[in-house]
Formats: sequence, C-alpha cells, structure tokens
Amino acid sequence: MINIIKKTNLGVIPIFNFFRKIIQSALPDAERPAIRKMKIYARPEHNISRSQISENALKVLYRLQKEGFEAFLVGGCVRDLLLGREPKDFDVVTDADPEQVRKVFRNCRIIGRRFRLAHVHFGKEVIEVATFRGAAETQNDKQVLNKEGRLLRDNVYGTIEEDVWRRDFTVNALYYNIKDFSVVDYVDGMNDHKTSTLRLIGDPETRFREDPVRMLRAVRFAVKLGFKLDPDCENAMHGAAELLSSIPSARLYDEVLKLFLFGYALQTFEMLRHYGLFQVLFPATEKSLSAEENGFPRLLLIKALENSDNRIADGKSVTAYFLFAAFLWEPVRILAKEKMAEGLPEFMAYQDAANEVIARQVKHTALPRHISMAMREVWSLQPRFNARVGSKPSRLLTHPRFRAGYDFLLLRAETGGADPELAQWWQVYQNADETEQRKMTQPPRKSQNSKSGRKRSYRKRTHNSATSTEA
Ligand code: ATP
Ligand code: MG
Repeated sequence: MINIIKKTNLGVIPIFNFFRKIIQSALPDAERPAIRKMKIYARPEHNISRSQISENALKVLYRLQKEGFEAFLVGGCVRDLLLGREPKDFDVVTDADPEQVRKVFRNCRIIGRRFRLAHVHFGKEVIEVATFRGAAETQNDKQVLNKEGRLLRDNVYGTIEEDVWRRDFTVNALYYNIKDFSVVDYVDGMNDHKTSTLRLIGDPETRFREDPVRMLRAVRFAVKLGFKLDPDCENAMHGAAELLSSIPSARLYDEVLKLFLFGYALQTFEMLRHYGLFQVLFPATEKSLSAEENGFPRLLLIKALENSDNRIADGKSVTAYFLFAAFLWEPVRILAKEKMAEGLPEFMAYQDAANEVIARQVKHTALPRHISMAMREVWSLQPRFNARVGSKPSRLLTHPRFRAGYDFLLLRAETGGADPELAQWWQVYQNADETEQRKMTQPPRKSQNSKSGRKRSYRKRTHNSATSTEA
C-alpha cells in the first residue's frame, strides 16, 4: 500500500504541509480528506484479476488508455470482485468527456439527461462509461439542489479526486486502474471491505437528504453483501424515511424491482420495515399488515417473498407483477369486503377495489401498464377457480395467466385465504388426461330417483316432509 503522505520525503514535509493547507483551504469541505487519505493498493495487495473482468470491459479500458485517457473500473463491479463475486455489470469511469468517448468507439451511444453517459455496445453486453463528476458546489449553475437539499441536476465534469465524493458508500468508491492494475482508495473503502461495513462517504444526514434513494441502496447492499450499516449511517436512517416521498414514483419503481427481485426479498422486506421505509413505498400494504387477523394477512406476503427467493435460488425466473399482486392483495381484499358489505356484488367489488388500490399505489411507486394489467388478471382469476363443473375449468386452463393465477391460489391456500382442497383439485385437474378431466368436471351424478334423493336429504335437514320447492 502506498500512502501518499507517508511516502513524502521527510525533509520537505514542512513545505509540503504549507502548500497542502493552502490547497485544502481553497477546496470545498468534502474534498479535503482526498488529499489526506489517498491510498493505492498495488496488484499483489488485492485479489482482482483480469481473468474475472469482462473482456468487453477490458477492451474499453485499454482503448481509452491507448487514446491517452485515464480509465478505471468503479462501483459495484470493483466491490463485487474484491468479494470474489461475479459482478452484475462493469462500470467504467474516465477523464474523457462523453463526446470524446463517442469518438473512440463506433459502437457507442450517449444517453441520459440528468447525467450524460456513454454506453458502449457489444452485442448484448453494454459497458457504461461515465466521465468523472465534478465537485459538490451548491453555487455551481450546473448543479441544482431543491429546498430540502436534494440534488435535482448535476452534470459537471471533474477529476477522480472530485468524483469519489459523489459516490454513496466507501465500498462503492474504489477505482481499479487499468494503467497498473492497482486499486485506488480515497475513502478507506478497503478497510470497510475487510470489516464488512457499509459507510456513507461524508455526513450521512446530508447525503441522505441529497438523495434519499441512498437509504434504499443501504438496505439493498446490507442484505446482498451481508454487510452491517455503520452506526452513523444507521442513526441517520431512523426517522428519515419520509424524505423518500419526494422521489419521482418511476425511480422508486425501478428501485423496488432491484430490492425485491435479486433473491433476498424476505430479508429486504424485514429491513425496510425496520427503518420505516416500507411504509413510504407501500403505505396501503403497511396498513393492512398492522390489521393482522390471526397472523393471516402477513403470511401471504411473507410466503410470496420466500417463494420468490427460493425460485431465484433454483435458477428460475420471477415476475414483478406477481410480487406486486402479493403486496397489494390484502388492501384489495379488505376494500372489496367493505364494498360487498355496502351491497356490491363480489365480482364488481373486487374490480373496483383493484382499481382504487392501484390508483393510490402509483402515486408512490409507478406501475407500468403491463404490470398493473397482469396484477388485475391474477386477482380476477381467483374467484374463477371456484367453478369446477362444466366447460369453465378447461377454459380457465387455457388462460394466458393460468399459471400465475394458480400459483397465487396456492399461496392463498397455504396461508389460510383459500380452501386447500380447492387448490388440490386444481393440482390434480391440470395434470390429468382429457378423459379424467372430463370426469372431474361432470356435474355430480343424480341418482336414478333423483327427486326422492333430494327429498330425502331435505327431510334430513328440515325434519319435514314435502315443501313447495320440491314440486
Ligand atoms: P449493483 O451491483 O446493484 O449494480 P452498484 O453499486 O454498481 O451496485 P449502480 O446503481 O450500478 O450500483 O451504481 C454504480 C455506482 O455509482 C455505485 O457503486 C456508486 O458508486 C455510484 N452511485 C449509484 N447510485 C448512486 C447514488 N444514488 N448516490 C451516489 N452514488 C451512486
Ligand atoms: Mg452496477
């Protein structure tokens, strides 16, 4: 490890300190520690090998370097490589601006309004190339904060020393330098790696106010990496959840997908609830959870999250709409019950309840139309599972959402919301051959003397003889 200050020739320290003080006093607060703390971990001091890095990411890094630019891997990929995990994607950062990047690569597109980024395409793989972002100066006309201190626009380019302070957690702010394969660390991120700590760079309260989504990221990374939150970061999260309500619902929808579709949905749910974040994302669900009936309502959601985690562990796919349908089922069910009590027929009560619950939810997390349509379908299939006679079951079997609807019925049956015998019947029915299916859906056979049969049962119940209904 090279510590820049320690390696300074002893004889020049006083002069160096003098200049350092002058330089530091001219810099915004956030940048000062950069000069104090920068460490370089040479190749033998870390475990990142080029063989673990995507070939396309390496091509981008080498090409930028060849053109005379600086080029680093940064963010989640460096963090994951250090942990011996396979990164989800590879992000590159450079001193070339997006236009310069575009000139270097033919297969490149510039994207983004808030931050302009270059995407270099290699078939299905996209390598994101960002330009170092500049210092956090509120007066700067290119960076705009709202009155709560949230960053609205931020598009000023800078140096690596400035870029580092814009990142969220220290373990996300390590730079792998293609020039000498070293890891550059301005924020003691390597130490936090060793102690499995998630620590925000800078003052946690300010950083959460700047971008409250960082609280969701804290939960996601804590669960995904098995890291603990640094106490200052944790303290700042308590009571700050409401800040999230200022975030556009479309962004929150994207974050929710990342939170719940990566294999640790149940743990994530518990942790979001712990910090009061879940209720900002899904207020109706949170309300329904507190109205527990014999522990029943919470179970369906927990089971759904558990199943989703198990499916991902088995390499199966999970769909967003199914999880959203599980999140909002209780609010729909409770509202539909109220509507039925007011005299609305079951079918309409559920349809109206679904519309209302979805309309309220999209104010918090957007729901793309195809998702809300699919959720409605899963819900509206539920009463249709009750029909077991005639042609209805075979028609239901060909419904494009049959599988999801059936899985949802299973969830309800497993958690006390539907008759387990009904779910069992559908399990047998869908696996039976045609003849067997026909037998299963025949109306109960009337005995030869059906009238007398009915009479008998009626008599049994009423202890009475003939009535007008028997005529
Ligand atoms: P993942 O494994 O989910 O991709 P990641 O850390 O790479 O995790 P990204 O959303 O891909 O997450 O972001 C890449 C990097 O950009 C982060 O590691 C972090 O340095 C920085 N970053 C992303 N979002 C924020 C944010 N809201 N505030 C500050 N820095 C951020
Ligand atoms: Mg990433």
